[in-house]
Amino acid sequence: MNNKTVRMLVSIAIIVVVALLVRNLAAPKGPQLQSGFGGGRLVMGTFANITAVASDDETIKASIEAAFDKLVEVDEMMSDYKADSELSVVNRDAFAGPVKVSDELFEVLKASVDYSRKTQGAFDITVGPVVELWRRAAKDGKKPGEEELAEARAGVGYEKLILDEENKTVRFAVVGMKLDLGAIAKGYGVDRAIEEMKKAGAAGGLVDVGGDICCFGASPKFDNIWRVGLEAPSGVSDYLLVLKLSDTAIATSGDYRRFVVVDGRRYSHIIDPATTASAGELTSVTVIAARAMDADALATAVSVMGRAKGLGLIESINNAEAIIIPADKKLEFVKTSGADAYIRK
Ligand code: AMP
Ligand code: MG
Repeated sequence: MNNKTVRMLVSIAIIVVVALLVRNLAAPKGPQLQSGFGGGRLVMGTFANITAVASDDETIKASIEAAFDKLVEVDEMMSDYKADSELSVVNRDAFAGPVKVSDELFEVLKASVDYSRKTQGAFDITVGPVVELWRRAAKDGKKPGEEELAEARAGVGYEKLILDEENKTVRFAVVGMKLDLGAIAKGYGVDRAIEEMKKAGAAGGLVDVGGDICCFGASPKFDNIWRVGLEAPSGVSDYLLVLKLSDTAIATSGDYRRFVVVDGRRYSHIIDPATTASAGELTSVTVIAARAMDADALATAVSVMGRAKGLGLIESINNAEAIIIPADKKLEFVKTSGADAYIRK
């Protein structure tokens, strides 16, 4: 099995687990509302599940379809795997000169730079050249060499990304840069998909793209509380805990979800931009935040920052919480001060 297949299977496992949980906990239909489930579609390189709650089938179907359409649209804009995506055009042309981009892509690039500043560079979408070396390492079964890492690093650094707010253009300050939105685009897509569900008339909904989740309004139990199981790291069955969410988002980053294997050793797919090394201190980081984009970016950032700095960062942000599993304590949680409010007792 290659790395992509492993990643996919792991993602399927997570999604099925979350989907089953949402279903199992669903009570019989209420008098006016009903819930519908559209699941298991492959989008943004992983599996997406969407649940809608509305008073009629038409609205349920329409809101699920609108949400999936938005996810596909965002992926077509922001995937670095797709040669014709807007992001790929930026990666190809932005050193030669400024590239005009859509409002959506600009918004994500701007938010990314803000997150880089807030995290002292732990979150950095310019990490693309280093990610590429690690991806190749997974294929070749050989760790990237010091020299090539040093060369790739020359193209890394959010301060080398020049954003022109007025003209909505992007430019690279140095040669060899490559943007990678893998740590934020799924979250952004989830938020946009939720907006579409609201526009389509859903009274409630949940969008889950590979563990980046946002929910709003009425739940399948018609009590406005969405119950989401936090999957255990590999080798352990069952959930570690169940979260109760209302109009909020979560995202999980972790080395058990996506990783590369080189010389029989597992390396996280998350890179510390400062060292170009794979981030290995934390097995899993789940962040709860208002928007899925925030949760997504922050979960990646905390994975890089480690336990102490990461917890400090999340404590400093209003309405954000984190639940961390350190790599050396496989089943022990470290939580921010307000996290317990979201955990089902
Ligand atoms: P996530 O699963 O949200 O933590 O995103 C991880 C993905 O984001 C990786 O597969 C890379 O494509 C990219 N990435 C890796 N390290 C970083 C980083 N330090 N900052 C931003 N993106 C990263
Ligand atoms: Mg992320």
